Amino acid sequence: SYDELKKSTNNFSEKNEIGSGGYGKVYRGMLPSGLFVAIKRSQQGSKQGGHEFKTEIELLSRVHHKNLVGLVGFCFEQGEQILVYEFMPNGTLRESLSGKSGIYLDWKMRLRAALGSARGLTYLHELAIPPIIHRDINTRNILLDENLTPRVADFGLSKLGSDSSNGHVSTQVKGTPGYIDPEYYMTQKLTNKSDVYSFGVVMLELVTAKLPIEKGKHIVHEVRMAMDKNDEECYGLGNMMDPAIRNAANLVGFVRFVDLAMQCVEESAADRPTMSELVKELETIILQND
Ligand code: ADP
Repeated sequence: SYDELKKSTNNFSEKNEIGSGGYGKVYRGMLPSGLFVAIKRSQQGSKQGGHEFKTEIELLSRVHHKNLVGLVGFCFEQGEQILVYEFMPNGTLRESLSGKSGIYLDWKMRLRAALGSARGLTYLHELAIPPIIHRDINTRNILLDENLTPRVADFGLSKLGSDSSNGHVSTQVKGTPGYIDPEYYMTQKLTNKSDVYSFGVVMLELVTAKLPIEKGKHIVHEVRMAMDKNDEECYGLGNMMDPAIRNAANLVGFVRFVDLAMQCVEESAADRPTMSELVKELETIILQND
């Protein structure tokens, strides 16, 4: 209930605040059952209308997968819209890659982060009923749970997906700059392949630890240029690599991984793999690492 949520966050005190995003402020709380939760609170008057809120709840209430952040409950009261999610104690992928969360991801953990979140997305695309296009895949929306299992979060921007082969036309391009599928940007035709593009950018971040746009340059362009300079296997790429993994002895599957990422960010959606194809490829790379 509203009163319980209020109590669990010390009246939504600043001390319990863990962040703020497109939706509103996010608080840490503990439910009477002892479960730790992240409480997203949006006060009325925010851009997001009640209709969109209800759509989000309906989506989330149907979706359960070990690589997705589960919606524990929701509350519509006193002019506020509140979403209650499972608490992810180990922060976002972006925080790990920028060294802010104190969690160092070695190469194998990065592969697992990619595989797990790809499985979560495959579930959304192919198994959820109705299918869901996430629309805002980025490294801030992939969180790490207590076991460092990656979990895809934030369906605030997702809409019910139509048949993935003939994406419906929406009027407004949504998403995060640097991750937006260029084909979607041009045509406003949204499909699962738009998520695949965004996911390719996430994979490049896992390799380079760079933001998708730095000093006005896009990571896809930068990696493509580095690869063109390659005479020997991944020489040019070496310069783009995250220093934190550059000196690791054993980067099995590194070239294949970058190759897959570059397929995901192909200009033409038809040239990109599906999420489930990607999962199979990533599983093969991980097997080689075991
Ligand atoms: P954005 O709109 O930028 O994606 P969110 O509103 O989803 O941001 O979340 C803002 C911040 O709150 C995130 O960057 C993250 O640090 C934190 N956060 C969000 N969801 C959770 C969660 N389930 N568990 C722990 N922290 C979370």
